[in-house]
Amino acid sequence: IEQELTMSGENDTEQMSSAILIRDITVEKEIDRMKTDFLSTVSHELRTPLTSVLGFTKLIKKKLEDTLFPNIDTGNKKQQRAVKQVSNNLNIIVAEGERLTTLINDVLDIAKMEAGKVDWKSEPIVIEELVNRSLAATSVLFQQKGLEPIIEIEPELPEIMGDKDRLIQVLVNLLSNAVKFTNEGSVTCRVGRNPESLTISVVDGGIGIAPEDCSQVFEKFKQVGDTLTDKPQGTGLGLPICKQIIEHHGGTIWVESTLGEGSTFSFSLPLSEIAEVPTINLDTLL
Ligand code: ADP
Repeated sequence: IEQELTMSGENDTEQMSSAILIRDITVEKEIDRMKTDFLSTVSHELRTPLTSVLGFTKLIKKKLEDTLFPNIDTGNKKQQRAVKQVSNNLNIIVAEGERLTTLINDVLDIAKMEAGKVDWKSEPIVIEELVNRSLAATSVLFQQKGLEPIIEIEPELPEIMGDKDRLIQVLVNLLSNAVKFTNEGSVTCRVGRNPESLTISVVDGGIGIAPEDCSQVFEKFKQVGDTLTDKPQGTGLGLPICKQIIEHHGGTIWVESTLGEGSTFSFSLPLSEIAEVPTINLDTLL
């Protein structure tokens, strides 16, 4: 960069500013890489003990429910209160442990993707199955919010090739976000096609995203808007992971949103024709 500056002449301010910008991005990228490396190592170390803590807590909870709960009426009021309190506290430990597990898995996932260490599958996928399995995985979230998903799938869609579990991960993430950021509006999952690609959209009538924030939500650890006050907690890694998965499939992911009205997160996937099984003409064989 220094060489470039000397050659282009120090009076050429336009050239100088572009050279300085290049250096900034390099430093930023290096810091980003170091952050991901560090988090990946720490996450690995955290995952094992956390699995034990969570596993044993669930075991204690089950023992408590199996043994103490059926006899709860036989104890005095103080004992009954104590059992309920222990049960509540165990529920909190499990919920927080699961949240931490999600964060650790997300960090490891993005680190693996960025390092090109994911074993991607390529299998035929029926779109209806993709949508149904994603909706099943998020059904508890919908129920908790008293929401009913609306499904609009164009008929006779062709199968696509890709990594089914990873694409379900994308749709689950978009649906979870839609539910998370919607209080009274509706959530629709829509699938349409054009000659070259399929587009899957999750449309919500939630809090929406400001125009200047829309381009940032696919960046790592970005939580936009007034995250600390009026938004549920999250990791800020869900959408960057979705972006990596969709781009691996040769597709694109984007958001259109109006603050206070809702958001539409969409991704497109190229349609790759699945080779048809050749029909054998018996006449030519005889
Ligand atoms: P997380 O939801 O765990 O914070 P994501 O990467 O999935 O991480 O989302 C990043 C941020 O984008 C969220 O924190 C939120 O600010 C914004 N966002 C994502 N989906 C929506 C949505 N459907 N409506 C409003 N804001 C959203």
